Amino acid sequence: MQADIAIVGAGVMGCALALELAERGRSVVVLERSIPGAEASSAAGGILGAQAESPGPGPFLELALASRALWRGLAPRLGEVGYRDSGLLKVALDEADLVWLEGIARWNEQLGLPCRRLDAHEVASLQPGLSSQVMAGLLFPEDGVVDAQLLPSALAALATSAGARIVSGGEVRGLAREGRRVIGLETSKGAVLADKVVICAGAWTRKVLPTLSVEPVRGQILVLRGEPGQLGPVTFSRQGYMVPRADGRVLVGSTMERVGFVDEVTLGGLHRVSGIAMELMPGLSGARVVDYWAGLRPGTPDNLPLIGPSGREGVEVLSGHFRNGILLTPISARLMAQRLCGERTDLSLAPFDPRRFL
Ligand SMILES: Cc1cc2nc3c(=O)[nH]c(=O)nc-3n(C[C@H](O)[C@H](O)[C@H](O)COP(=O)(O)OP(=O)(O)OC[C@H]3O[C@@H](n4cnc5c(N)ncnc54)[C@H](O)[C@@H]3O)c2cc1C
Repeated sequence: MQADIAIVGAGVMGCALALELAERGRSVVVLERSIPGAEASSAAGGILGAQAESPGPGPFLELALASRALWRGLAPRLGEVGYRDSGLLKVALDEADLVWLEGIARWNEQLGLPCRRLDAHEVASLQPGLSSQVMAGLLFPEDGVVDAQLLPSALAALATSAGARIVSGGEVRGLAREGRRVIGLETSKGAVLADKVVICAGAWTRKVLPTLSVEPVRGQILVLRGEPGQLGPVTFSRQGYMVPRADGRVLVGSTMERVGFVDEVTLGGLHRVSGIAMELMPGLSGARVVDYWAGLRPGTPDNLPLIGPSGREGVEVLSGHFRNGILLTPISARLMAQRLCGERTDLSLAPFDPRRFL
């Protein structure tokens, strides 16, 4: 096999990058050891929390706001993937939470970003069924959500229709070299020759190139059967979140555990996430548990992604998106495609340079 660019991994990053490159007329092949979206990408809550997830002003916020804007154009092209940009709610359940919420409200207001302070009454009318302990809320009207269980296959189909090749069941076993030069990938389906290799292997990035600083961070999710049609906003407490889906399911997440490559669901994990649901919406105590799963987020030491050169000639990285890879998909793929095609990038890649940890 031969291509201009060979990508390792068909999670949201690999698929979205393949789409961007194929639309620029590049020949692209994506090697995926399983099926598209088999790992973190289909395990996600799908929250598009550009403001809700940002720690404050800085490179993450800039990247996240740009990506949220791109989502509006991408979503209609993907078909029915449960995309909603109808807002995201953070609530305070005690005095300490009020201080937490106040800090978040302040920097958002200072930057002139859209957000609304809500009293307990306004929160209750926006999201019926929330705990009577809720003291106040903060609404980010432009944040949103997408169904991450539907997203990867839709993104893979769009990339394929644009001309990218996605090879399921194709495990990458190493970089193909000629002397010191990387000339492609060694895979379970034979060698793939390419001018450039891009590693989009999520939590497994270091297994492809050990110098890269990406570590797995496990997250567990519990799914409850709620009432269909009662589609309030995604709601965050300081401990976790609840994501209502149109069919009545409610996703509750999530844990943050550094336990290596173990992606099992545990009793402790379920205890923790069920506690989040009970605290936010005690009325759900009788709700049926319909599913649960765990996934491995690609974490980095500074919680910023790796977008750019790996330090190894011919090898680029698009990984390390930690707990916001769904949100950051459109902008990350665009920036990497712009870089690979020698275009001016929409944002500076300096804060995300993978070599910062070498
Ligand atoms: C529980 C949980 C909740 C989350 N919630 C959210 C959320 O609400 N909002 C949000 O924005 N983000 C969320 N995230 C984070 C988001 O899911 C990730 O940041 C994102 O999916 C990472 O995408 P990726 O393509 O880099 O990695 P992955 O989806 O993990 O894809 C990597 C792919 O590479 C393949 N691969 C690895 N090694 C090889 C190899 N050697 N050969 C071939 N293929 C290989 C894997 O099989 C996999 O398919 C959540 C994550 C978890 C786990």
